[in-house]
Amino acid sequence: MAEGDSMYPDLLHHIAGEWCASSSGKTIPVLNPATGEAIGTVAQAGKAELDRALDAAVKGFETWRQVSPFDRSKVMRKAADLVRSRANDIARRLTLEQGKPLAEAKGETMAGADIIDWFAEEARRTYGRVVPARGKGIYQLVLKEPVGPVAAFTPWNFPINQVVRKLSAALATGCSIIVKPPEETPAAPSELIRAFVDAGVPSGVIGMVFGVPAEISEYLIPHPVIRKISFTGSTAVGKELAALAGRHMKRATMELGGHAPAIVFDDADVDAATKFLSGSKFRNAGQICIAPTRFLVQEKVYASFVEKFVASAKSIKVGDGLVDGTQMGPMANERRIHAMQALVADAVKKGAKIATGGNRIGNQGYFFEPTVMTDVTREMRVMNEEPFGPLAVMVPFKDFGDAVSEANRLPYGLASYAYTRSAKTAQSIAAAVEAGMMSINHQGLSLPEVPFGGIKESGYGSEGGAEAVEPYLITKFVSQANA
Ligand code: NAD
Repeated sequence: MAEGDSMYPDLLHHIAGEWCASSSGKTIPVLNPATGEAIGTVAQAGKAELDRALDAAVKGFETWRQVSPFDRSKVMRKAADLVRSRANDIARRLTLEQGKPLAEAKGETMAGADIIDWFAEEARRTYGRVVPARGKGIYQLVLKEPVGPVAAFTPWNFPINQVVRKLSAALATGCSIIVKPPEETPAAPSELIRAFVDAGVPSGVIGMVFGVPAEISEYLIPHPVIRKISFTGSTAVGKELAALAGRHMKRATMELGGHAPAIVFDDADVDAATKFLSGSKFRNAGQICIAPTRFLVQEKVYASFVEKFVASAKSIKVGDGLVDGTQMGPMANERRIHAMQALVADAVKKGAKIATGGNRIGNQGYFFEPTVMTDVTREMRVMNEEPFGPLAVMVPFKDFGDAVSEANRLPYGLASYAYTRSAKTAQSIAAAVEAGMMSINHQGLSLPEVPFGGIKESGYGSEGGAEAVEPYLITKFVSQANA
């Protein structure tokens, strides 16, 4: 696709090394969230496509597991280079279908290439071990083997990033994988998979199908071919899929929702806290599972933090992600607009004040104002439900204990943030908050080399760091004596 071209392709499945439509001919429309207009279609799989993808995944696994980690890693690194060389084109498609500013889309694409490289290297270090034996001439070997064909389900907020973590971990360890990327943002993940295919990943190792999410997950998860599930999305859907995986004794990684506390203590550098936290809050129009959402600010600095944060929110240029200078694009789909409106209306009805924003922008596309609310209470939905949008709530707190009890009040436990100049407070807050991740005095989450995942109802398993490789491996113990 040429620079400046707004064309968007009709998207196909990738099954057994071929790009193919559905035998039924069924498709689903894809919309541009900046205009609300249809820009293309994506194929809708039926049982015939899923069966072919499963057959191919069995064959692909048999082929790929025989390839050494060294050679797998070479193919993966080539795919990473192809992603980098095609980043402008991929990013443009991503912005057209998802809405985020082009610079963010390019950043996501380039970060995707780094993730591939990291997993390619890490898989070369999937060491087993030798356990000293009690008897002479006996070897006790702990071996690591790929778990088998994986089924992965990914959401629309980071069309590349959500796929690439699962895909790279599976491929690096020698598994085959069937990915069901989001139907709302299918072009960017398709280009990601094209890079792997062009880099030489053999037929059947990667399958990609689109369709009705529940129909596909209900068919693939229980299927005997599939040995591991990975899902990113809402807690509600994650619980359903985890239960299904449990009924069929399948391993699962669940990366679900959050409602991240951002705790700003009296002794914090308020300017730095404002800069990092407003950047993290409004990036991708707030549609990030680790976005800070509940801003807990100690009383002495509350007024100045809110004033600075509101000024920062007001300065954000909202618009079409393809237009130069846009800092925040539309919400990715109309459902998010309705969700924002409902959360704001509920809070206002119960006494919240809007410090800035609170409304949809215009009536074309899915734009919503960067919004900050004060005077919020625990009875309001926004204090309990993940906003997943450009909505920040400000909550003053008295002391350390108050901050911790609010931070830990919800069943979520994904990301958390804290700002303080005291090393002691930093250590204590990191120990006290129930979350899978905490970033203190900067934005330091989600690099490929560090763990990424939640606790409590935010899920289980990691999508980053050495911890992300292990779930794709089984441990086999062999005890061998000389004959
Ligand atoms: P949703 O819960 O219906 O869908 C979320 C994702 O899960 C989508 O990509 C969807 O295709 C997929 N999905 C839904 N049902 C499925 C099923 N039965 N089997 C397999 N996949 C299924 O909601 P939504 O309106 O698309 O998104 C809203 C909520 O989802 C947000 O409020 C947020 O909590 C959550 N979400 C989380 C992330 C994340 O990064 N953790 C990303 C996107 C959405």
